[in-house]
Amino acid sequence: MGSQLRALIHQKQQGYLNMKKLLPTSTAGSLPKPSWLAEPEKLWSPWRLEGEDLVEGKKDALRLSLQEQLHAGIDLISDGEQTRQHFVTTFIEHLEGVDFEKRETVRIRDRYDASVPSVVGAVNRPKSVFVDDAKFLRQQTSQPIKWALPGPMTMIDTLYDNHYKSREKLAWEFAKILNQEAKELEAAGVDIIQFDEPAFNVFFDEVNDWGIATLERAIEGLKCETAVHICYGYGIKANTDWKKTLGSEWRQYEESFPKLQQSKIDIISLECQNSHVPMDLIELIRGKKVMVGAIDVATNVIETADEVANTLRKALKFVDADKLYPSTNCGMAPLPRAVARGKLHALSAGAEIVRKELSA
Ligand SMILES: [Zn+2]
Repeated sequence: MGSQLRALIHQKQQGYLNMKKLLPTSTAGSLPKPSWLAEPEKLWSPWRLEGEDLVEGKKDALRLSLQEQLHAGIDLISDGEQTRQHFVTTFIEHLEGVDFEKRETVRIRDRYDASVPSVVGAVNRPKSVFVDDAKFLRQQTSQPIKWALPGPMTMIDTLYDNHYKSREKLAWEFAKILNQEAKELEAAGVDIIQFDEPAFNVFFDEVNDWGIATLERAIEGLKCETAVHICYGYGIKANTDWKKTLGSEWRQYEESFPKLQQSKIDIISLECQNSHVPMDLIELIRGKKVMVGAIDVATNVIETADEVANTLRKALKFVDADKLYPSTNCGMAPLPRAVARGKLHALSAGAEIVRKELSA
């Protein structure tokens, strides 16, 4: 009986790997927070609780976010980024060498100005950032868990560097730190670790010079699956204005995909719903698993299941069915909760339509 039980536990732990379900659904990462935790529909939204109440509140929000994802039929569960204020800043706040009081205005992703903290000394991670949250989520569900971290290039793009005075040097330092965090997340039972690199759609020369190399440094030695999420950003005005300047065909992925195809990253997450990304660009990453964004995060209009299915069908021409992971274009943190919930349900329903077609 001992060995049977062990086998059962092992099977549960390896649930994701054994899960033969086609088209497993997931979100790119963030989901709206409850209004008692943080001001809704806002990026960098300040917390509404403090001290112990905040610690408890974040845990409750994680539980809720898990339930909403399960209820919507999402297969690969994320933390909905309920315990972080922002996908980049919160990670950096936990590091030494960055002064949050000393702020400078820089241009983020060549697109909009923001007041950002300064790197004033050697950066390092005195203790883990998200590992306790990951352990907590792991206790709550036996579903596979995906955890997002910022990528090295996107991190340096959100800072003023007055110490290394080299974007590349700072990126390598962050890659080492991310690798430490990723290894601890893996040990905590996270099945997929995702790095968010929206900056890959902007700084093409750097992507190819050292962007992908630093990303590979961040995943060094990991046994769990790894993903990189590259997108056109949250549905905020600076991003939607930028998109208007990109013309009728968005070919940005063309710059990073050939090298990513050669990289050790397992999964590539891109934005496909309502975007002008030509689907055939997916051909450039043939062989990789692809998280296909089939939910537009820049509109409150909820997709129909048929619209989602249509996007997935188009993607299937360029990615094998067993490698297609339906997802959202980007995070949904700034959306109204009911809208995000509706979009999660649409994603599941759309994936189910195509799943049935594939098994017919
Ligand atoms: Zn994104």
